[in-house]
Amino acid sequence: MLLNLKNLKTYYRMDNKIIKAVDGVSFQLKSGENLGLVGESGCGKTTTAKSINRILPTNGGIVAGEINFQGRDLARLTEQELNKVRWRDIAMVTQSAMNALNPVYKIGEQMVEAFQTHINISKQEALDRSAHLFSLVGLEKSRLNDYPHQLSGGMKQRVVIAMAMALDPPLIIADEPTTALDVVVQDGILKQFVYLQNKINSSIILVTHDISVVAELCQRTAVMYAGRIMEQGSTREIFKEAYHPYTLGLINAFPTLEAAKEELISIPGSPPNLARELNGCRFKERCPFATELCEKDPEIQEVADQHLVACHYPGRVQEFREKAVLPAT
Ligand code: ATP
Repeated sequence: MLLNLKNLKTYYRMDNKIIKAVDGVSFQLKSGENLGLVGESGCGKTTTAKSINRILPTNGGIVAGEINFQGRDLARLTEQELNKVRWRDIAMVTQSAMNALNPVYKIGEQMVEAFQTHINISKQEALDRSAHLFSLVGLEKSRLNDYPHQLSGGMKQRVVIAMAMALDPPLIIADEPTTALDVVVQDGILKQFVYLQNKINSSIILVTHDISVVAELCQRTAVMYAGRIMEQGSTREIFKEAYHPYTLGLINAFPTLEAAKEELISIPGSPPNLARELNGCRFKERCPFATELCEKDPEIQEVADQHLVACHYPGRVQEFREKAVLPAT
């Protein structure tokens, strides 16, 4: 197992309040496998991603849990030890990563510096490897002589992806990697990225609220809601046979998907405030099946091989489908 997250809890402190952004998240990832982490805005996806390689803002911290990666618990490594893991073993691509390119240095110089910080390599070797990476992500090698402002947003994000791939890291965390870009550019870059990563047998955690991307690119899917994972399993099963009402609602919010051709289903209401004490099932206020039992936290159940659901009533989704179909307006 490449990554084994066990009961991770990451909280933020703000204005004397504790925001339980990630509140007991567990999942596993095998080598070479892609996991799509999906859910509505504010459910804790980015916090989960940032927890893994410990780049949380200063008001945030891991309060419990384990992040087992290649035999070590990242939650317990020192900053010095982590610096050896970051980029080399776990690279991260974020929506705003391209803004981190330094405007006063040429792209090539920045690539060389990044290489030389992590591995013992000559300037020429670093430039040659950069040129090779550029060809993989569809950039002319002459772009190495450009300054960031001479590149479009799409090109800059390709640079960032090339940098993330530079040392063939076993894990890449891509947090909405293309959201800031034009939709057509987004699609092309993302597909190319996943294709390349899989060629070098890296795993990707793809954080997104666009589940159609996950359906296409990830073997496994985890659905997050209010700081917890509600359902996880193979993407094929999640999209064809969702067991959690929230998963189904999420899938059906994307009517372009194969699995969601029937009718539009909406999930009424909004997610709970994570600064409040939450008891029982976090989805209960929005769930048409909620009963008194849902005042109790649901146990995680394995409904099929490696298909886990946190619901007292897994399988009622068919009923949900009928109940929640909205009349056309
Ligand atoms: P999005 O899709 O909008 O990025 P997300 O699912 O990635 O959302 P997070 O960004 O992890 O969710 O946020 C989870 C919760 O933590 C939210 O309630 C958010 O307001 C809160 N949060 C995130 N960052 C901070 C911070 N630096 N300080 C305080 N609260 C934060």
